[in-house]
Amino acid sequence: MYQLATSSPKESLLEALRQGVRQLMARFPAEYWRELDEHGAYPEAFMKAMTEAGYLAALIPEEYGGGGVGITEASVILEEVNRAGGNAAVGHAQMYTMGIILRHGSEEQKRRYLPKIANGQLRLQAFGVTEPNAGSNTLNIRTTAVRQGDYYIINGQKIWTSRAQHSDLMILLARTTPKSQVQKRTEGLSVFIVDMREAIGHGMTVKPIPTMINHHTTEVYFDDLKVPAENLIGEEGQGFRYILHGMNAERILIAAECIGDGYWFLEKASAYANERSVFDVPIGAHQGVQFPLAKAYINLRAADLMRFDAAQKYDRGERVGPEANMAKYLAAEASWEAANVAMQTFGGFGFAREYDIERKFRETKLYQIAPISTNLILAYIGQHVLKLPKSY
Ligand SMILES: Cc1cc2nc3c(=O)[nH]c(=O)nc-3n(C[C@H](O)[C@H](O)[C@H](O)COP(=O)(O)OP(=O)(O)OC[C@H]3O[C@@H](n4cnc5c(N)ncnc54)[C@H](O)[C@@H]3O)c2cc1C
Repeated sequence: MYQLATSSPKESLLEALRQGVRQLMARFPAEYWRELDEHGAYPEAFMKAMTEAGYLAALIPEEYGGGGVGITEASVILEEVNRAGGNAAVGHAQMYTMGIILRHGSEEQKRRYLPKIANGQLRLQAFGVTEPNAGSNTLNIRTTAVRQGDYYIINGQKIWTSRAQHSDLMILLARTTPKSQVQKRTEGLSVFIVDMREAIGHGMTVKPIPTMINHHTTEVYFDDLKVPAENLIGEEGQGFRYILHGMNAERILIAAECIGDGYWFLEKASAYANERSVFDVPIGAHQGVQFPLAKAYINLRAADLMRFDAAQKYDRGERVGPEANMAKYLAAEASWEAANVAMQTFGGFGFAREYDIERKFRETKLYQIAPISTNLILAYIGQHVLKLPKSY
């Protein structure tokens, strides 16, 4: 409906990916997602299909068995999942957490994990960063990793570790040098690959958190968990830097999911506004209904441009912090606006589960808060781009 004509090879690849994901998503219609939502179930069949089609391994280089494409293409894959009424969050972490191993892991780690992640033998879906007391202030995390011989001993707690019960591996951020002993406040944190199949019951406990969306999120407790020293990624103490790069990828991919949500809301709402008639004309003829839809569409298209700007800069290896954050901000705002407008357009029927508006409304709200809240993006742009005084 909103697709531009394509011409260059790059655009042809994007269009082919869009068509491929649309075909796959035809096997997972709204009823599938609605039922999962009602039962809090994990979409095993969808994940299997995405893995077999190679979509979840799109960013893994071909030499490790993946698709070898860039974040631009990967973002289109996730966008199309959400645009078809699904929820790519159930599997998106595999894309951006994998990048931390790819960029900073040893060759041995890449050969050990990436081909198995690519072919689906191993799931890397858990990203353990947030902690209850630190919240948005990642540098304040208290989970520690203390080196003892050939192991690190992990103690502490993570919260909101999504998909931990559906993942074989976790990328974990922990403190290896006390805050008081580091020269730069961004140092002293390290990243580990944790094999959850070995860890659960041997120092790791996972507890689900019931939430307003079907997100499979958990609390994870570490009590003298032994992680082999060889599972440290890159250099000890440099983990915050590694995580930040992964977070830029995450912001761009999640921006794309928001864009997909936004188009889904506007397509549904426009169709409904054309067919629903209560005062002899379709409700969409009333400007009180039509203009909010048009405004949401304009904002969505603008966010979409910023998404592609960020993705292309990322793929060219350029510094992308501001663009990744702005893309996430604009896309999350646009999808939330579209969600509200769709809900209003559907009137009472927006509340009925069978129309899926309320489900997607709940799902897209998350992106105002996670993986980074809109306020923290504004603070980042204010302080790092506009060089305004720091508030924290
Ligand atoms: C469903 C779900 C899934 C998640 N999945 C994961 C995951 O897989 N892995 C993971 O590590 N984390 C995950 N998270 C955590 C998520 O990244 C955090 O919730 C988010 O970073 C915000 O942290 P917080 O919830 O502690 O909010 P807080 O940091 O407590 O902030 C609360 C509010 O205060 C505002 N605020 C805080 N500080 C400032 C400031 N300086 N200036 C202005 N406003 C401020 C924030 O904008 C926010 O609105 C998930 C969260 C949810 C809800």
